[in-house]
Amino acid sequence: LVDFVTDSEVTLVDAAASDDMVALAAWVSNGNDDVEKLQDQKRVAGLIKFLYRNRHMSPFEHGHFTFRIDTPIFVAREFMRHRTFSFNEVSGRYTEMKPRFYVPSTRRPIVQSGKIGDYSFEEGEEHQYFLINSNMTENCENAWSRYMVLKDCGVANEVARMVLPLNLMTQFYATVDPRNLMHFLSLRNEAQALYEIRSVAEQMEKYFADIMPLTYDAFKER
Ligand SMILES: Cc1cc2nc3c(=O)[nH]c(=O)nc-3n(C[C@H](O)[C@H](O)[C@H](O)COP(=O)(O)OP(=O)(O)OC[C@H]3O[C@@H](n4cnc5c(N)ncnc54)[C@H](O)[C@@H]3O)c2cc1C
Repeated sequence: LVDFVTDSEVTLVDAAASDDMVALAAWVSNGNDDVEKLQDQKRVAGLIKFLYRNRHMSPFEHGHFTFRIDTPIFVAREFMRHRTFSFNEVSGRYTEMKPRFYVPSTRRPIVQSGKIGDYSFEEGEEHQYFLINSNMTENCENAWSRYMVLKDCGVANEVARMVLPLNLMTQFYATVDPRNLMHFLSLRNEAQALYEIRSVAEQMEKYFADIMPLTYDAFKER
């Protein structure tokens, strides 16, 4: 009845973005945005590196990526701090929630040391993973059955959902331009980022690298 997942999933729904677009947007400033120039991809690569190195970032704002993200609510909360994205999310008022919950796998580091802003996390002991798994799955199953009890006695979705925990999976669309995608990746595919949002960012970064390889090279050299 209740499903448990151990990772988030990112799908690229749509993209209108390219390295060529960055070059054209930069060249228009000299009145010289001739598409013929795009045939010289070495020149495009050199220009993109120059722009990135010198923080001439507006040419990287032309275009967009739209991702569909399936992730726990606590990751969505962090994600939606990024104000340059546009979002649409499944509604817990208009739909019945799906019984899918995130439970960390044994790959997820769980023991914290260090201080605020400089934590490190290590793998735990087998019994700790066992306790995480057994407590979380039991808690989610309980929460889900309480959700259904409330709904079955006529309580509205928007009220019944209040019994559900933060590891419930949610789905949203997130659309962003390449510049702000890079900003997001620099913060969220990074050692200090939450393990679960990092997994989302890693998947997004692969799509970005495929679609804008020259821009991606400049971004990685930063
Ligand atoms: C490791 C980590 C830990 C964090 N911990 C916490 C925490 O404990 N508590 C917490 O509340 N948040 C926390 N955050 C969230 C963080 O404070 C930012 O809200 C989040 O990373 C979004 O960053 P941003 O504002 O640069 O990005 P975006 O919102 O995507 O904005 C992109 C850029 O646009 C510009 N911009 C956007 N809006 C404005 C504005 N209103 N005024 C001026 N410039 C603007 C800025 O240049 C900004 O960098 C954490 C983030 C990270 C990565």
